[in-house]
Amino acid sequence: MTFQELNQRISTCTKCPLCQTRTNVVPGTGNIKADLLFIGEGPGKNEDLQGLPFVGSAGKFLDELLASINLKREDVFIANVVKCRPPANRDPLPEEVSACWPYLEEQIKLIQPKLIITLGRHSMYRFLPAELKISEVHGQPKKMVNQKTGESQVYYPIYHPAAALYNGSLREVLKQDFLKIPKILEKLV
Ligand code: URA
Ligand code: SF4
Repeated sequence: MTFQELNQRISTCTKCPLCQTRTNVVPGTGNIKADLLFIGEGPGKNEDLQGLPFVGSAGKFLDELLASINLKREDVFIANVVKCRPPANRDPLPEEVSACWPYLEEQIKLIQPKLIITLGRHSMYRFLPAELKISEVHGQPKKMVNQKTGESQVYYPIYHPAAALYNGSLREVLKQDFLKIPKILEKLV
């Protein structure tokens, strides 16, 4: 499947009830050959209205964090676990996540990122073991082997920019974790 075909499928998807309440699908944006893939949980209000990920205040902060390591949005790929906004920003239901999951898997397959950066604990738990605590493992790369394919992938869990936005100490931690990204990537290339 090409990226264009995948985007087409996502944009017209009706596989779960979130299709009934969304304004726009938010498939994700950026460089499809990026080394870095950022994954949030799901679109919020602004994202739903614009069809683009991280365009609200958390997105502005994410842009600042990217700029701190000399990157622009166009240099990385930004996606979410679910592509349609859950009403009133509730957590997506397990069945919504499972319905949407193959799209994220296909995006990962096409992009082949060197590093997957999970934003916040919800996104982290989709990839890393449930016993991990974000307060303990944030800012530490973790390699996981896919049991199905035998392939390994490195993940880098960090706090969600929305959670860190109005919390001074988390904000500082997130900034510091971000600054570690170039070195981690260098070791992986
Ligand atoms: N929060 C997310 O997790 N994703 C977005 O796209 C916006 C806010
Ligand atoms: Fe389809 Fe995912 Fe949107 Fe559900 S959330 S309708 S599975 S694109």
